[in-house]
Amino acid sequence: MLNKEKIKEAAEAVPVLKRAAREEELVWINPDLTEFASAKPELELTMDDIEDAERRLERFAPFIMKCFPETKPRNGLIESVLSPIPGMQKALNEAYNSHLQGRLFLKQDSHLAIAGSVKARGGIYEVLKHTEDLAAEHGILKEGESYEVLASEENKAFFRGYTIQVGSTGNLGMSIGIMSAAIGYEVIVHMSADAKQWKKDLLRSRGVTVMEYASDYSEAVKNGRKLSDANPKSYFVDDENSRNLFLGYAVAAKRLVGQLAEQKVSVDKEHPLFVYIPCGVGGAPGGVSFGLKQIFGDYVHCFFVEPTQAPCMLAGMASGLNSGISVQDLGLTGLTHADGLAVGRPSGFVGGVMKPLLSGIFTVKDSLLYDYMRLLLDSEDIFLEPSACAAFQGPARLLQYPETKEYLTAHQLTEKMDQASHIAWATGGSLVPEEIREEYKNTYLG
Ligand SMILES: *Cc1c(COP(=O)(O)O)cnc(C)c1O
Repeated sequence: MLNKEKIKEAAEAVPVLKRAAREEELVWINPDLTEFASAKPELELTMDDIEDAERRLERFAPFIMKCFPETKPRNGLIESVLSPIPGMQKALNEAYNSHLQGRLFLKQDSHLAIAGSVKARGGIYEVLKHTEDLAAEHGILKEGESYEVLASEENKAFFRGYTIQVGSTGNLGMSIGIMSAAIGYEVIVHMSADAKQWKKDLLRSRGVTVMEYASDYSEAVKNGRKLSDANPKSYFVDDENSRNLFLGYAVAAKRLVGQLAEQKVSVDKEHPLFVYIPCGVGGAPGGVSFGLKQIFGDYVHCFFVEPTQAPCMLAGMASGLNSGISVQDLGLTGLTHADGLAVGRPSGFVGGVMKPLLSGIFTVKDSLLYDYMRLLLDSEDIFLEPSACAAFQGPARLLQYPETKEYLTAHQLTEKMDQASHIAWATGGSLVPEEIREEYKNTYLG
């Protein structure tokens, strides 16, 4: 690890980070984006890994359906809809002069069953993977038996002897807390100062132990990991490094294929797909993008969006230091209304995987998150939490920055924009209580 002075020097040598340090809204185009065919053999995870995760989720479907009847309509799969949002597209074009052609869609992970956020993918997957490992080790699941047996009182009692711990800004704790409690585990969620009170309350009401920290996310993770490591029967879900979490997110891409076909969306040389995903530590947007690149290769263009006060993945990738740099090293506070994105230090693992795959990163001011939220409510009658609304910075700004215009030219996309599709990845919102929604709707920042 470099010392503080060296980190500062490295950051100051990167012009885009000097602008980020001034809290400017900006876009960064990744200079290391590589043709997928040459990037693919170098990646540590593969399509086989995603398919393995997909099959595991299918094996657990009978159990999920039994514990969470709301998943019955999808036979125990936790999946969200892809909705065209032409009203929002028109509203963005009018309000922000965005000039967005083609079609704009919303991927409503905000409405995923059980956890109401994108974390229902990675978080739940990792708990299930660990459960399968433990069950196999202790002869709980017999060959060919339905996973429904995991819902028996006897098996729940077995899992009560084990603990799951996780550090969270809120939503990850909710997905892991709710699923772990359903299996029977003792659960401890270590929550950073940014976590919203209602999320802590909801978890406690499910029997989850919530430990609160006055410090930021990285500190909550560090403490959680330490406490978990001291207990041999405790498993720590490591949001910063977990390959399992990442693969749980990546399954989204496989499921999207059929949804795009249903919407009669082609993705090929003449029909580019642009995806915009809010980014915290990087696992969710990284996993989803990784899956999309495996399937659509060079025809999909993945952009992350981060708050101007917490652009940790930008700091890590643009400096090349990955998890060796934090937003505090840039002089930023890391404080943002986007609680799901309030992360000061990125996942080094994700930064490495995304290096040849990511198209770029937008940053967005907190005030705009509420404006986008109201615009979506008014135009489409869909509610998202502020963090999720960061996604709209992509479609709003793609055709405005010189850097993105240059990107479109360099990739011969400019003349194809009228047949492009854009997906704003809505990462959370359906569990937000009514009174908090009202508060959000009336929040106007200068
Ligand atoms: C966690 C979260 C994200 C980002 O996921 P990371 O894995 O932390 O990058 C985005 N939006 C919401 C609402 C989230 O809760």
